[in-house]
Amino acid sequence: MADETYRLVILGSGPAGLTAALYAARANLSPLLIEGAQPGGQLTITTEVENYPGFEHGIQGPEMMDVFRRQAERFGTKFVFGEVTAVDLRKRPFQLTAGVSTIGAQALIVATGASAKLLGIESEKRLMGYGVSACATCDGAFFKNKEAVVVGGGDTAMEEATFLTRFCTKVTVVHRRSSLRASKIMQDRAAANPKIAFIWNSVIEEIVGDQKTGVSSVRLKDLNTGAASDFRTDAVFVAIGHQPNTRLFEGQLEMDEVGYLKVCHGSTYTNIDGVFAAGDVADKVYRQAVTAAGTGCMAAIDAERWLEAHEAS
Ligand code: NAP
Repeated sequence: MADETYRLVILGSGPAGLTAALYAARANLSPLLIEGAQPGGQLTITTEVENYPGFEHGIQGPEMMDVFRRQAERFGTKFVFGEVTAVDLRKRPFQLTAGVSTIGAQALIVATGASAKLLGIESEKRLMGYGVSACATCDGAFFKNKEAVVVGGGDTAMEEATFLTRFCTKVTVVHRRSSLRASKIMQDRAAANPKIAFIWNSVIEEIVGDQKTGVSSVRLKDLNTGAASDFRTDAVFVAIGHQPNTRLFEGQLEMDEVGYLKVCHGSTYTNIDGVFAAGDVADKVYRQAVTAAGTGCMAAIDAERWLEAHEAS
């Protein structure tokens, strides 16, 4: 039995969740938003956002999410700090476990986003926070006047490498292929930066270091020749993409082979009536703040109409 039941609960506090909350609150649905493990979502660990319409001169990611949050709060969204650890979408109202309380939801919007992917090697795990990081914005300042390696060939890797040149004397991008996946503008910006160098066709097999002295080098493998080499560095920033945060819904919500939630084309409806998905959790194609906000708006409208139809019947 739920401690409290809401007409609409929103999971996640990135652009999708907060936009859904704004629209739902303005529609008098008095939504409850559960913030999740990373309040504000991925934009809180990014730097300058230059491509969100309306911010002509750009805005810092964390500041932007603060604005989103205040706007959703202004119209009556209730916020709960914390994480949902279990969901039962077979029961109605849906049952969500958050800490010691059980929350009921007539309708649910899943906007849990995606998290940074890791290489999966033992030394990465052991040295995470001791010279290994998945967030340059969070940890870059620790490496002032030091050298860093960034792994990856997408926009995230270019953004992280460019950002790190504010602190580091040299940043080396290690990429497993001979060409980048990143957008042309990000590639050009990184290539034009004299502090950024590239090592192509290579993967990191091991990060050398310990928790007392930090990272000292990486062991690289050249994928063309198979040759191994050591490369000196003080830090490793892993920037190889993201994994949708959907484990909670396994066996209940339909997802693709990677874990992205499936929605009915052109809407935010999932396979369970009354559950809607918005933002990166259901988007492996666009993954932009503005598209997340757009689908957040769609989810709130879908939920509002669904509630109206079901509460009337
Ligand atoms: P991504 O585009 O999927 O790129 C991931 C990169 O990491 C790829 O180059 C991939 O190599 C490499 N990689 C993946 N797994 C690896 C592994 N195990 N070992 C070594 N390398 C690995 O991810 P993303 O860069 O995070 O970008 C995701 C989306 O967000 C994109 O649509 C991007 O445009 C967008 N984004 C935009 C901005 C911006 O506009 N400011 C900033 C960040 C991200 P391969 O190339 O060989 O697959």
